[in-house]
Amino acid sequence: MSIFDLTIAGAAKELAARKVSAVELVTAYNGAVEALNPRLNAYITVTPELALAQAKQADARIAAGNATPLTGIPLAMKDLFCTEGVRTTAASKILEPFVPQYESTVSAQLKAAGAVMLGKANLDEFAMGSSNITSGYGPVENPWKRAGADAKLVPGGSSGGSAAAVAARIALGATGTDTGGSIRQPAAFTGLAGIKPTYGRCSRYGIIAFASSLDQAGPMARNVEDCALMLNAMAGFDVKDSTSAERAVPDFCAALNRGVKGLRIGIPAEYRMDGTNPEIVALWEKGISWLRAQGAEIVDISLPHTKYGLAVYYIVAPAEASSNLARYDGVRFGARVDGVDLIDMYERTRAAGFGAEVKRRIMIGTYVLSHGYYDAYYLKAQKVRNLMLRDFTQAFAKVDAILTPTAPSAAFGLGEKMDDPVTMYLNDVFTVPASLAGVPAMSVPAGLSAEGLPLGLQIIGRHFDEETVFAVSAAIEKAAGFTALPEVRAK
Ligand code: GLN
Repeated sequence: MSIFDLTIAGAAKELAARKVSAVELVTAYNGAVEALNPRLNAYITVTPELALAQAKQADARIAAGNATPLTGIPLAMKDLFCTEGVRTTAASKILEPFVPQYESTVSAQLKAAGAVMLGKANLDEFAMGSSNITSGYGPVENPWKRAGADAKLVPGGSSGGSAAAVAARIALGATGTDTGGSIRQPAAFTGLAGIKPTYGRCSRYGIIAFASSLDQAGPMARNVEDCALMLNAMAGFDVKDSTSAERAVPDFCAALNRGVKGLRIGIPAEYRMDGTNPEIVALWEKGISWLRAQGAEIVDISLPHTKYGLAVYYIVAPAEASSNLARYDGVRFGARVDGVDLIDMYERTRAAGFGAEVKRRIMIGTYVLSHGYYDAYYLKAQKVRNLMLRDFTQAFAKVDAILTPTAPSAAFGLGEKMDDPVTMYLNDVFTVPASLAGVPAMSVPAGLSAEGLPLGLQIIGRHFDEETVFAVSAAIEKAAGFTALPEVRAK
């Protein structure tokens, strides 16, 4: 067995038993990052010296007997979390020179738990995308390949660098953010577990904003237990985020062995969409039978407004993005391109600093918020969003959790689905409803496609009931017995 076979939980045990030191673990990971990152491009910035210094502190803490399960664990930090003294780009050229003077709450909590940061993970620019191809720092390569083929595949997005890093074992776990699926879809594309917690469960303070009413941080890791360990440290009320929830954080690990006996699991009719890959439908059926076999009751439900999900999301998210991204004006932080006057400087800076997808969203967002169109688009979208929330509320009167596929396909090739943006947006069809409703949702690896690529199932829960989501996810994980590994990985 190699050191790279350890999970977070496994590594924590080895560290506690002094069979391995944090310095040994982190040195191995630093080496793996150096070897594989030039190919995968999973990290935009690597921080090996910082990681080593944190590992030394971790060893001291373990020796002193006050370690947490994350002490000495090497993680990748999505480059959307502000990290004090470490460049934070959001994968945008406009933030290329930006070194934050403060730390995001989530990364600060991980630090406080003793976790080690290997570097800042690549993503779609400002987290806008489903494939990582919109990054201003080059695309990320998925460590998985189709059987017998060499074509490069995307890792999904926007947390694609986080996903590729964990799948290739150049991080033990990673932070992600999810606005419309950015934790769940890349987790599914790379054979990982990943949870978007309830909106408000983790603080958004210090996370570069995309769509503030949707953005939520969460963990991505090799299995469900590792996600629970990470979320224990990431979650919690924060006075610095007015939308963070003033609620106690339960021990999510305690929910893992609850089982699903007696739980009612909803299967939404509207997620059986025409044209979904038959393999995905078959996997969903398997998931249903696994839960039934473990004692869950399967209930047919309806989420009638599902068909509006993408339309609503692609109005609300760009609207909020256009407002949030107004701050990148070449004055306060980031890059500046000088012009003949102030307006010219703004225009040149934003023209040079933002990529095509970000510009597209700013234009759509500005349009739907403008006088005369606001009622027709933004207000209407907000109303339908409410109906979607009501769908979930009514469903959760009948069921404890909902099971669906995570994504309509396995990972696709770099260069595919790029002819028109709407084709790319269709990737998010199964993930955006939970985002719009603010409910927690997790993706768990559940099988392989005929081409040998990982496929995920999604478990959606009630607001603030991540525990049931973890329990059902653990049951799926157990039944699926997913052990496949990508060819490209640290060994
Ligand atoms: N793919 C979606 C988008 O492009 C979701 C992104 C995200 O969750 N950050 O908006």
